Amino acid sequence: MNRRVLPGILDAIGHTHLVELGGLLPHFSSRVFAKLEAFNPGGSVKDRSALGMLIGRIRNGELIPGRSTVVESSSGNLAIGIAQICRYYGIDFICVVDPKTTPQNLAILRAYQVTVEMITQVDPETGAYLPMRLKRVRELVAATPGAYWPNQYANPLNPRAHQQTMREIVEALDGKVDYLLASTGTGGTMTGCAQYIRDHGLSTTLVGVDALGSVLFGGVSGPRLLPGHGAAIRPALFDPTLADEVVITSDLECVVGCRTLTRREAILAGGSSGAVVAALGKLADRVPPGSNVAMIFPDRGDRYLDTIYSDDWVRAHFGEVSHLWKEPEHTVAVEAC
Ligand code: PMP
Repeated sequence: MNRRVLPGILDAIGHTHLVELGGLLPHFSSRVFAKLEAFNPGGSVKDRSALGMLIGRIRNGELIPGRSTVVESSSGNLAIGIAQICRYYGIDFICVVDPKTTPQNLAILRAYQVTVEMITQVDPETGAYLPMRLKRVRELVAATPGAYWPNQYANPLNPRAHQQTMREIVEALDGKVDYLLASTGTGGTMTGCAQYIRDHGLSTTLVGVDALGSVLFGGVSGPRLLPGHGAAIRPALFDPTLADEVVITSDLECVVGCRTLTRREAILAGGSSGAVVAALGKLADRVPPGSNVAMIFPDRGDRYLDTIYSDDWVRAHFGEVSHLWKEPEHTVAVEAC
């Protein structure tokens, strides 16, 4: 038990718990672990990216309280991570969001006194909000003195922050990480883990877990219900060849993964955690016995109570599917959809 006094809230970022999931796949002959990024103070893996992209500039005086403004496009976890850091240092933050941002996330941003800019038009070419959000970010940066755009999609400090995520997993498992499952949005998490694996000569099989309807691994852009993972545009820093294997999961599989996780492990996690659980279900037969399998769970389920954990929402989108996670055999449940 860690009884240290931390100098401030930002020191609570990282060193999240790695928890063994002994009951997730009952007949699996390998050990399964989950890195619970919900334990970051902002509630997600993106606290690490936010800190990684900002702290150097704050320390070297490029970002100055009362004079600088951070501008970023994010509708969720990164926005909350940046909001927390900007509030801590007294730096203004303008966050460009779109109507898909949940009311809860907007409320959190307002609580951190973030200036929220809502984009309401989709890009006529792609039908997505993202290009319009990025256009607005560029306008704001040009118009705001002392503005800085971290640009999570192209900033190498985003993936670099996740080398530490992998380091923590490797150290906790005494160097034996046979599989690592990471979901992808900007690709920062997966890329940083891949860099650590390469730099330390590890034999870990890196599994990228992407959303159906995302273009990251060459898929066709399509509708996605759950925020966080998947992307309509492949970011500049994203290299699909870093993944040794790729598993694509549907929204329904994310829901089944999340509900199964809560049922079997009492962990209330977000949609992309459900995605990696579903991916493990698809992969399990091919994992050699005795392996250590680590998964990164990017955020908590509290932010999905109106969607993944709402029976009405699930029924409205997928019909009566609760048998998929109420089955006694979890592996059957995850693979059935
Ligand atoms: N899951 C959730 C819930 C997220 O918010 C994100 C970040 N958008 C991801 C997964 C993907 O992380 P990354 O951007 O590092 O690829």
